[in-house]
Amino acid sequence: MKLDIEKAADLIRNAGGAIALTGAGVSTESGIPDFRSRNGLWSRFDPMEYGTYEAFRRDPHKVWDMLAELLFVADAVPNEGHLAMARMEEAGLLQAIITQNIDGLHQKAGSTNVVEFHGSMASFSCPSCEARYSMAEVRRLHLPPHCFTCGAVLKPNIVFFDEVIPPYAIARTEQLVGSARVLIVAGTSCRVVPASSIPGLVKQQGGRVIEINTEPALAHLADITLGGGFAATMTALLEKLLE
Ligand code: ZN
Repeated sequence: MKLDIEKAADLIRNAGGAIALTGAGVSTESGIPDFRSRNGLWSRFDPMEYGTYEAFRRDPHKVWDMLAELLFVADAVPNEGHLAMARMEEAGLLQAIITQNIDGLHQKAGSTNVVEFHGSMASFSCPSCEARYSMAEVRRLHLPPHCFTCGAVLKPNIVFFDEVIPPYAIARTEQLVGSARVLIVAGTSCRVVPASSIPGLVKQQGGRVIEINTEPALAHLADITLGGGFAATMTALLEKLLE
C-alpha cells in the first residue's frame, strides 16, 4: 500500500507539476506567529482601528504602533519547507506559489514565481508622492518613518483590510488556477476570501488538491491530506519527487 506522501508525489509528477497556495502556517516554523491566533497581532490590535487604510489616513502614528511590531519579519529566515518549495520550482515541478503571507519568505528561500495576495513588508510607499523605500531604508529611520521628499508618513506595501487585492495578483491567480491540475494547499485553512475559493475552483475543473496542514481543514475538498508540520512534510515530499 502506498503512503499518502508517495501518492502526493505521484499526483504531482503525473500532472507535470503543481501550483501552491500558502498561508500563515508555513511561516510559524520561521518564528512568525499567526496574526489571527489567540495571542496574535489581531487579538492585541483591533483590526478596524489598526488594520485599515482608513485608520492609517486618519492617524498614521497610531497605526504605526501596530506596524512597528511587523518589522521583525525582516529578520525571519525561511524554513526547510520554504526551501523545499524553492527546490520544487527549480526542478520544474512547482509552477508558482500564491501566498497570503506578507513576510517574503518564499522569495528569500529562492522561489521566483510568487504571487502576493496581501502585498509585502519588503517595501514601503509614500501615500502622498508615491516614492518607494526598501525595508532596509525604513529600518534606519525613526518610527514612524517619514518620506524624505514630502514628509508624509510611509505605508508598507501590504493590503489593509479595507483595500482591494492588487488587480495584477488577481489576474495572475486566475491564470494559474485556470490551468492548474494539482494544487498544494499549505498552512492555510482557506477561510479568507479570495483564497477560500481557490481549492474549489481547481476541483471544479477536474484538478486535484493536496492539503498540508497540522490541523487539516479541507477534508471535503482534499484528495490527499498530509497532516504533519510544513517543514518536515515538504522535505519528505521533495525527497519523494526527486527519487
Ligand atoms: Zn512623499
